[in-house]
Amino acid sequence: MECLKGQDQANQIKGVGVSPGIAIGRVVLLDKEVNWPRRDLGQDEIELEHQRFVRAVNGVESRLEAVRDQLDSDIAEYASLIDSHILMLRDTMLFNKTLALIEEEMINAEWALDKVLEKVEARFATVTDDYLRERFQDVRQVAERIMRELAGQCSRQADFSEDVILVTRDLSPEDILRMRSPKVRGFLAEMGGETSHSAIIARALRIPAVVGLKKVASRFKGGELALLDGSAGLVCLDPSPHDVDYYRQKQLRFKQYNKEVAAFAHLPPETVDGLRVKVEANIEMVDEVDQVHEYGAGGIGLFRSEYLYLGRDILPDEDYLYDVYRRILTRMAPLPVTIRTLDAGGDKIGSWQAGDEANPALGLRAIRYSLSEPDLFAVQLRALLRASRHGRLRIMFPMISSSCELDRVIEILNEVKKDLYLQGVNFDPEVEIGIMVEVPSAVTMADVLARQVDFFSIGTNDLIQYALAIDRVNEHVSHMYEPLHPAVIRLISQVVEAGHLAGIEVTLCGEMAGDPTCLPLLLGLGVDVVSMHPRAIPLIKKIIRSTVAAEVELLLPDLLSCVSGKEVRSRLSEFIQNNYRDDFPGGAEQ
Ligand code: PEP
Ligand code: MG
Repeated sequence: MECLKGQDQANQIKGVGVSPGIAIGRVVLLDKEVNWPRRDLGQDEIELEHQRFVRAVNGVESRLEAVRDQLDSDIAEYASLIDSHILMLRDTMLFNKTLALIEEEMINAEWALDKVLEKVEARFATVTDDYLRERFQDVRQVAERIMRELAGQCSRQADFSEDVILVTRDLSPEDILRMRSPKVRGFLAEMGGETSHSAIIARALRIPAVVGLKKVASRFKGGELALLDGSAGLVCLDPSPHDVDYYRQKQLRFKQYNKEVAAFAHLPPETVDGLRVKVEANIEMVDEVDQVHEYGAGGIGLFRSEYLYLGRDILPDEDYLYDVYRRILTRMAPLPVTIRTLDAGGDKIGSWQAGDEANPALGLRAIRYSLSEPDLFAVQLRALLRASRHGRLRIMFPMISSSCELDRVIEILNEVKKDLYLQGVNFDPEVEIGIMVEVPSAVTMADVLARQVDFFSIGTNDLIQYALAIDRVNEHVSHMYEPLHPAVIRLISQVVEAGHLAGIEVTLCGEMAGDPTCLPLLLGLGVDVVSMHPRAIPLIKKIIRSTVAAEVELLLPDLLSCVSGKEVRSRLSEFIQNNYRDDFPGGAEQ
């Protein structure tokens, strides 16, 4: 990370950079603190307070609907985010509980809602999955909007006459409209992390952003100049003319670099000597399909279907799942879409699961959970099979650890196919099936498993966790989580070899796939498909197109003989310096 040159350290704040780029502008504070004192009610005031609360909820609802209807077509996918906030307004957890508390404790609506929010927060705090935990910010945004409505503070339409940086507690759907102004250069938020909606939206709108800046709003009065570096996660208050100059230069280089890299999104991912590698995308939500196309993915290599289940009190039914799968397949056709069956458990516990295991990562997770709930599994398989005729579906099973387990999965799949057939329901009987290879026993048995499926997908995020015995969510051992550990490389190599011997395709869909430093290694190992976050694709394609396959093949024995991750890294860095030079992001200071 780079620091602002010549800048007083006291004027710098470090947060989480979630959307890259440099922004320079005058600060606009979006939120003003709303205070809600406690008011004890008389028995005869309860009905009126209920009505006041319902009126506020209705008011927020109409405002959100108006915002949704005004969204430009290029960000229309965020309509679903606004819709989710509209639904949340009347969620039992918020709406009914607040009404009940007004009555039980005879208190004003603001106080009751605040108490309810505290309880919801406590519930979310126990969730270990980052993505899910950050969904609490949506609930908070919705509650704060109701608070503001109760306090008679409606949102303002911003009309900016100069370049601005928006500063807010969190980005609300209404703020999206403000962010559409060409004068909005950057965005700072107190809340959020890498996967919060504010981060997702800032990235989607390509507005440099830094989040997770505790109490940042109190450092500003509004109207002063500020500067942010969304790649480094750095904010500079009151920058000197020298800082502004320096960062304007950096901004120009960043824009130039992005332009150059974007040009690779739609070029074929082919090495200099003609080896074709497939580059696909990992997504969690249907909305992301647009990005999949924009960044030139050759298909969806991993759709993490669990996000359709988590964060709900009631499990989704077959028709709902079918509709989501159908939409993804239709929008991607004729490109392949790999949908992974439910990977719940571990660090992704649904409210409908027991979730009281001592070692959840080693517990009733992924396919084990599905096999323990065969009816739930069958519902997902029925939905998938019904959707299969709308595009090129590949069904993938997570965390397979033995051939018998896979036999049982295939047995259930065949039963579901038989039922559909007898009911006269159309589906693709030849739909491809594959497994995530992410447990060491699956690697060891890869030659056997390869005979049972059409493809492998190596899930290095988990394979590393299980092979090195490093819990991927435990901060005490996270420094030992080493994707380039020689043991990991040998495991990947073994899977690729077994897959190829059996004549099946091998994908790698862990975070390693989108890491430019790992790419020469993965190409050398002969991985057929790399699947990653859509935005990582153009750079990865650029690097593939500068690679000589014969050279990475020659490098491989050297890498396989290394005894430590550090040694692998240093060999790879040397190779990268000698063979790529300007292709790597370091060259552009990002
Ligand atoms: C993996 O384990 O590498 C993977 C892609 O799956 P997830 O990160 O969802 O566990
Ligand atoms: Mg996994």
